Amino acid sequence: MGMRVTIFSRDEFTARFMIEGINAALANTLRRIILAEVPTMAIDDVIIYENSSVLHDEILALRLGLIPIKTDLKTYNLPEKCDCKSELGCPKCRAIFTLDVEAKEGIRTVYSGDLVPEDPAIVPVSDKIPIVKLAASQRIRLEAYAKLGRGKDHAKWQPVSACVYRYKPIVRIDESRCNACGKCVEYCPRKVLAKEGNRVFVVNEIECILCNDCVKACNVKPAPITVSWDPSAFIFYIESVGSLPVDEIIFEALKIYEEKFMEFMTLIEGVL
Ligand code: SF4
Ligand code: SF4
Ligand SMILES: [Zn+2]
Repeated sequence: MGMRVTIFSRDEFTARFMIEGINAALANTLRRIILAEVPTMAIDDVIIYENSSVLHDEILALRLGLIPIKTDLKTYNLPEKCDCKSELGCPKCRAIFTLDVEAKEGIRTVYSGDLVPEDPAIVPVSDKIPIVKLAASQRIRLEAYAKLGRGKDHAKWQPVSACVYRYKPIVRIDESRCNACGKCVEYCPRKVLAKEGNRVFVVNEIECILCNDCVKACNVKPAPITVSWDPSAFIFYIESVGSLPVDEIIFEALKIYEEKFMEFMTLIEGVL
């Protein structure tokens, strides 16, 4: 069977789809590339001019690093691929933010929205991420440099908050032995089964989580209901942190996979 993709749901930042006609190795390759190789922007260098908050400079820098930032893969270079080879980067490989907040009138929370971007396209995905609480007269003044990086170097560059897959479930009922008692319908936590008159049948197979509760609940032995899975079909759920739209994450992962494969082919050709 050839490869087939069915999309169950999709919006800008989440996607749920099924790929049929692949094996677990290929499904996991896609998952690993998404997690570890697709680049995003994150704050990597911070120059702190003033910090009288309760947070140490290092913790403050770490918190800034974990703020998801809108990413533009077409305009910015990965630092290792940029001609500048400079430690703090150049306008082609880094975006600068400045932060200058003082709690003049009592307690003040510093939010991601207080970061002032140099490039209006490279901004935190949300303005409402708290960074630190300042007591009266405390102040933070700093410059932060965001760069492209990969999840394999630090989780702050991971483009997704979830990237999981599971086998496509297969639920079958042998109607010749089923007495339609409805116990399996009652026990199923995902509403996979339904009872209508003297019949119990599968209504939402894709939602099955392979828990086997329906089989355990059945009083007929061996149970007329069986639960298994298709080892060549995988249901993916991907959720972006907001740095990149989910379809860009998937396309970028496939591009990286192709590049890696071509590199491997060239290497093999050189050896053989
Ligand atoms: S519990 Fe068993 S016998 Fe009862 S409806 Fe389900 S499969 Fe049929
Ligand atoms: S295995 Fe669990 S989720 Fe799947 S049909 Fe049975 S009870 Fe429902
Ligand atoms: Zn550069």
